[in-house]
Amino acid sequence: MSMNNQGRPTSFEKADPNRRQPVAPGTVTPEELATVSGDRGLDHEEALIFELDHGAVGVDLPDVKVGDDHLGGMRRNGRIGLPGLSEPEVIRHYVRLSRKNYAIDSGLYPLGSCTMKHNPRLNEKMARLPGFGDLHPLAPASITQGALELISQLINWLTTLTGMPAVAMSPKAGAHGELCGLLAIRAAIAARGEDRKRVLVPESAHGTNPATAAFAGFTVDEVPAKPNGHVDADALKAKLGPDVAAIMLTNPNTCGLFEGEIIDIAKAVHEAGAYFYCDGANFNAIAGKVRPGDLGIDAMHINLHKTFSTPHGGGGPGAGPVVLSARLAAYAPIPLLVASATGLRLIEDMAAAPDGAKPFGRMCAFHGQMGMFSRALTYMLSHGRDGVRQASEDAVLSANYILASLKDVMSAPFGDGPCMHEALFDDSFLEGTGVTTLDFAKAMIDEGYHPMTMYFPLVVHGAMLIEPTESESKESLDRFIHVLHTLAEEALAKKTARFAGAPHLAPRRRMDETAAARKPVLRWKPNPLKEAAE
Ligand SMILES: *Cc1c(COP(=O)(O)O)cnc(C)c1O
Repeated sequence: MSMNNQGRPTSFEKADPNRRQPVAPGTVTPEELATVSGDRGLDHEEALIFELDHGAVGVDLPDVKVGDDHLGGMRRNGRIGLPGLSEPEVIRHYVRLSRKNYAIDSGLYPLGSCTMKHNPRLNEKMARLPGFGDLHPLAPASITQGALELISQLINWLTTLTGMPAVAMSPKAGAHGELCGLLAIRAAIAARGEDRKRVLVPESAHGTNPATAAFAGFTVDEVPAKPNGHVDADALKAKLGPDVAAIMLTNPNTCGLFEGEIIDIAKAVHEAGAYFYCDGANFNAIAGKVRPGDLGIDAMHINLHKTFSTPHGGGGPGAGPVVLSARLAAYAPIPLLVASATGLRLIEDMAAAPDGAKPFGRMCAFHGQMGMFSRALTYMLSHGRDGVRQASEDAVLSANYILASLKDVMSAPFGDGPCMHEALFDDSFLEGTGVTTLDFAKAMIDEGYHPMTMYFPLVVHGAMLIEPTESESKESLDRFIHVLHTLAEEALAKKTARFAGAPHLAPRRRMDETAAARKPVLRWKPNPLKEAAE
């Protein structure tokens, strides 16, 4: 095993224009603050793992004897090109990277619409029980009764909390659930022998809503919002007609407001022969308080990774079960969980669907995200029915506390009344201060906070959406409020120094986010030192 470090680049050899510079220009020069190692305090720089590669092997494998080749001459001759590091080096690499990450486990995560709440460790413990965590998706029902029972109990919770008769468990995220719901609606319309192509989507909707409708083969017709942040119910009703397949409404909506006219809207939608899809991403505000089935909703996804505390971020994993009304239940996709004389089993074959079931197809291989199911059910069982309700109430209370505490300095377009689980501000208070919305958000990073959701919903110019969730203590909320209040006061007093070019204290300065998205550099740079040595 080689531990030869020669030729390895150290971080300070790499000039990076985005490296952090001193906060107060003029007091200390960058040279004076530069360190020999390139690290700053206990904040380590870290190269790409390919740049760290020095051909070490982290495990000892027996040498393959010449002539011992059972692979019919297919043995690889050269190096595979994977980075070679010893085990301690691999551990350090990933621990250092993880310490650059901001996570709900390190601080308040105010991203609106994302419901970044604490993930209880009990959830993790249950998800790792070997009978759940190590289960193979093809294991026969005879040895998976416990896991199927877990799914069955979760189905019971979801249908009870929503007041809906059926749920499709397999969708792997909210957006996937939207697709599942619209495909069920498409199948129901086809079964009626009708051709309905239009889907009404409010302009305040999350971008996944129109994208899903278009992907499912519908045309999207936008419904305007009223100045008070609610969907324009009259405009919506005026758009209903024989070619409308469905509406997609978010409730509470993306402005953090409960759509009070929802029952009336549902009635009009059904009278027009259309279906009501609800984006349930904001269920954390109403779980245990309001049953969407009572509002006339036909299909709604539930982001287990938001409302029911399973971890999310960085693209996954997630789970987006879709509850279905009696009008759509028959079209739920396979697999279907059914009880039989020999116990629970999954029906995986369309032709074997029970009487009355007309599955529209299948959303994905297997039955969904078992790890998310175990975490979500653990969360439900440990909270109980009253605890789930209290979580919703506390989430709404936290958001209103933030709204009430900040609206004297930050403009809140709908701040006259209470909000649901998230507080919406906009950037009009920054007008004329020389501080931009982005400056303000980036200055939060210097204060140790992840910025809030910015520029969403699109119906509000310069939107700043803050969702504290119920899992923050009052002390944590007070500290957050104090920081934002002070930042807003400084901006209003045109004390702009800390905002210009923020963040100043993060491992990197402000990035060119457009270039990062449009021209990402995904390949590792060949190591010039190493090339010279070879
Ligand atoms: C998060 C979210 C979605 C999409 O859910 P994913 O699980 O990220 O696919 C849809 N609508 C709203 C309002 C959301 O907040």
